[in-house]
Amino acid sequence: MKYYIKTFGCQMNKSDSERIAAILEVAGWQSATNADQADLVVLNTCSVRQTAEDRAYGHIAKWRQYRQQNPSFIGVVTGCVPAKEGDKLAKRFPAVDIFLNIQDIEKLPELVAEKRRTAFAAGTEYTDQNINYLQTIPHHQSSFQAFVPISIGCNNFCTYCVVPYARGREKSRGSAEILRECQKLAAKGYKEITLLGQNVNSYGQDDPAEIDFPALLQKIADIPGDFWIRFITSHPKDMSNKLIKVIADNQPKVTPYVHLAVQSGSNKILKAMNRKYTSEDYLRLIGKIRQAVPEVALSTDIIVGFPGETKADFAQTIDLFKQARFNMAYISQYSPRPETTAAKMEDNVSRSVKRQRDKELTAVLEKIALVENKKDVGKTIRVLVENKKGSHYIGRTPQGKVVKVREAGLTLGRFQEVEVRRALAWRLEA
Ligand code: SF4
Repeated sequence: MKYYIKTFGCQMNKSDSERIAAILEVAGWQSATNADQADLVVLNTCSVRQTAEDRAYGHIAKWRQYRQQNPSFIGVVTGCVPAKEGDKLAKRFPAVDIFLNIQDIEKLPELVAEKRRTAFAAGTEYTDQNINYLQTIPHHQSSFQAFVPISIGCNNFCTYCVVPYARGREKSRGSAEILRECQKLAAKGYKEITLLGQNVNSYGQDDPAEIDFPALLQKIADIPGDFWIRFITSHPKDMSNKLIKVIADNQPKVTPYVHLAVQSGSNKILKAMNRKYTSEDYLRLIGKIRQAVPEVALSTDIIVGFPGETKADFAQTIDLFKQARFNMAYISQYSPRPETTAAKMEDNVSRSVKRQRDKELTAVLEKIALVENKKDVGKTIRVLVENKKGSHYIGRTPQGKVVKVREAGLTLGRFQEVEVRRALAWRLEA
């Protein structure tokens, strides 16, 4: 029996898909190269934004056709979907056989076998797995880059965000287990380990016996080997001086890249979002990071058009962008998400104004990113070679910048020194 996993959304979802693959393979499934060749398709969705959700559910339309070709086809939807949404979605998408809470992924083979027994009378594939979500050793897609989840869920309840409803309260994975996984990856020669959590900075706070995130990061940096460590995502309110010191002390092994979601430059909007910091706090914090790690690159998340965002609020976001000088930002237009507090607020910024603000902010970012990238021209920089596209390679710098490398015979998954010749806003050329 063959499975296919289609993944949408962030690195957390990609990491979850690696775990789903591992669970299915333990239960005897093999991976298919295309969805139309699979007996089981798992759609790992993202409902953080309406557009992402629409894209994901567009795929379900094809499932009818798959079922016509293969009557025992099973379609599963999992990912960032709040549990209560499952019932509504079942009505909307009758082609879906199973809605699975992402924290229950270890039950997937059992649920699929049950479905096959009841719906198709297809035998006895029942497997009695009892694998804990965070203990599942993933089937890594790459032989040199690995995502390592350190926690799941979130306690912050930002008013626009579906994650606490979809993934539950924050639960940290045992540090001994995380260290074992990182040691194994380093021993296998992995070149990049990315620690994942909705808010890595609050790691360990749910368990008094556990170490905190700076201590965990230090222990991982102490593992011998030539590899980079990245971590996402950080909440500004939990970014401590201790963590900044660990990043600074372990350059460049802990890469000089910090993703720190600010979401808005207006204190009124930040309060309505329940972010628990002001724009002044945020700017002070990145000032400290820049002082400790001068070569750092900063990226952020921004929501434009949050309920009640006026012209003046948006002007403050532009102003914050100019002061913060982000190297990259992930800008999204607000859309209400089910079950969230903001969904009960009036979505009173029109679509066209959201689009316009998105465009305006992107233009500001583009100018800043270009100026910052130009500072790299002429430098020799170490990149991790990630991919080959036609006659050139794609690498990434420790700061997370994409580099198009014109050179023959590079090896994927290796570090390479390159000379930067040209800078564009969204990439370097070397
Ligand atoms: S910190 Fe806020 S935005 Fe991030 S996952 Fe938690 S609730 Fe969502």
